[in-house]
Amino acid sequence: MPMTPQSTPVPPLDLAAQFADLRDELLSELAAVASSGYYVLGPKVSALEEALAEYCGTKHALGLSSGTDALLVAMMTLEVGPGDEVIVPTFTFFGTAGTVARLNARPVFCDIVPETYNLDVGQLERLITPRTKAIIPVHLYGQLADMRALLEIAAGHDLPVIEDAAQAIGAQGDDGARAGSFGLFGCLSFYPTKNLGALGDAGALLTNDENLFETARKLRIHGSGHTYYHDHVGGNFRIDAIQAAILTLKLKHLEEWTERRRARATRYTELITAAGLVPEHVRPPQEINGRHVYHQYVLRVQRRDELATFLKDRRIGAGVYYPLPLHLQRCFADLGYKAGDFPHAERAAAEVLALPIYPELTNQQQQVVVDALAAFYRR
Ligand SMILES: *Cc1c(COP(=O)(O)O)cnc(C)c1O
Repeated sequence: MPMTPQSTPVPPLDLAAQFADLRDELLSELAAVASSGYYVLGPKVSALEEALAEYCGTKHALGLSSGTDALLVAMMTLEVGPGDEVIVPTFTFFGTAGTVARLNARPVFCDIVPETYNLDVGQLERLITPRTKAIIPVHLYGQLADMRALLEIAAGHDLPVIEDAAQAIGAQGDDGARAGSFGLFGCLSFYPTKNLGALGDAGALLTNDENLFETARKLRIHGSGHTYYHDHVGGNFRIDAIQAAILTLKLKHLEEWTERRRARATRYTELITAAGLVPEHVRPPQEINGRHVYHQYVLRVQRRDELATFLKDRRIGAGVYYPLPLHLQRCFADLGYKAGDFPHAERAAAEVLALPIYPELTNQQQQVVVDALAAFYRR
């Protein structure tokens, strides 16, 4: 039978659909900010910070220019610098380790647990040295790392934990505690594709520590407490009022959107299982550490690159996050890592495939995706 490309496209995500749903509310927020003349920081940002702290369960939230800058500010607050080491998973978005390197500190990579794709806490002890300055677990794809075990080890060595919760806002541990509230700092990203997305770049830093919060707040505006008097060398890490207003409005919908993501994840797993693809060809994601918020729905698949091309030809927006672990990136070559150092991460990089998932995804679109998977493996 000749293969005809599927006619119903399934985009990797549909940000315009989300905007259309909230169009009138969002436009009136935009107009209100534009009329106010207050465009950077100010009352809209304070309102967002209060709402975020309440949602995430921390004392403080600081609105920032991006998730990357949240990581940077967290480490600058702790005075991470030359000679310091910061432990990070090798299987993550570049920003987790790039920020360490930008502060002239050394990223020390750690392998992952194959079932959750998160930092293998069992390997931490062996990576900790007298130079270790912090540990950055990442809650990849929207599922918490094993925070209980990690916090115990960190406490044993008196080491601060900075959570990279960029993909995991709303993820919860078994006790209900939310991503970003476990460590000394939690870092959030509101890049448009994240579960809570701005209309541009934005991020936030979470903490329960009053003093660190005050330092971070100064670092956000070039280290100044009083205008033109500088206690530290900071940067411009400010968030725009427009983004804050949009995010405060969208945050009210986040729980509903998260439940819709979770329902779609369950449905994918049911459809894929019913199609007889598990476990021979495809392994669905596992929800092991509390409530997964499915920033991505990630399969492990056979013949990944071939399948990715097959889906692309059928206009199905599947993605690979991430094709090359950080210890093998060219820019980190002088750190001296080599292929084979972190076998679980390297294997994941070759096998993972994310299917389109977003609150607006329809049953029919999910069926189209799973039919395409079945067609590929039946050939
Ligand atoms: C998106 C992301 C970041 C960076 O956030 P930006 O807002 O894009 O700077 C950091 N870490 C992880 C794991 C991410 O997914």
